[in-house]
Amino acid sequence: MSLYTLPELPYSPGALEPHYSGEIVALHHDKHHAAYVKGANDTLEAMAAAREAGDHSAINMLSRSYAFHVSGHVLHSIFWTNMSPDGGGRPDGELAAAIDEHFGGFDRMQAQLTAATVNVQGIGWGALAWEPVAQRLVIEQIHDHQGNVGAGSVPLLVIDSWEHAYFLQYKNVKADFVKAFWNIANWQDVARRFEAAREVPPTV
Ligand code: MN
Repeated sequence: MSLYTLPELPYSPGALEPHYSGEIVALHHDKHHAAYVKGANDTLEAMAAAREAGDHSAINMLSRSYAFHVSGHVLHSIFWTNMSPDGGGRPDGELAAAIDEHFGGFDRMQAQLTAATVNVQGIGWGALAWEPVAQRLVIEQIHDHQGNVGAGSVPLLVIDSWEHAYFLQYKNVKADFVKAFWNIANWQDVARRFEAAREVPPTV
């Protein structure tokens, strides 16, 4: 039984053009994201088989594979909903107030998240996240899909910094992709995630 399934895109692949090409969105969702879903399901099956056989000789490889694939699935699922053909602009309400309080204004948050995303060494993501222990927004730079992040933080807005996310359209100029991303950022979705994340009691 598959525990993880590929979500439908909330728009047609070409709906984010010209900011994000339909060719990339289709490949990115149908091939890359689908592979992470399959990898997460396959790894759980392999772990079950290892338990049954009493053979945990591959535990390190399987543990890493699970973290990589399930995190890839989660981040891409968030990424699709973080974008909208009607996106752009700026958040308002409580999210805007929290950004002002925790970053000293929208422009400073945007500059930090842009820098975090553009400057990832190797592959990864930039993320605006809710950190429940300090009860504040933070910006994280995720390595691969699962590294370099705080244990409790909840990603609210994620920007894919892997080459497969932009190369067909923006070639090696990742900064132009991130600049274009701001035109399609779905602040309503980020605000909804912000509200939900704050409902969860802190673990510490
Ligand atoms: Mn990706």
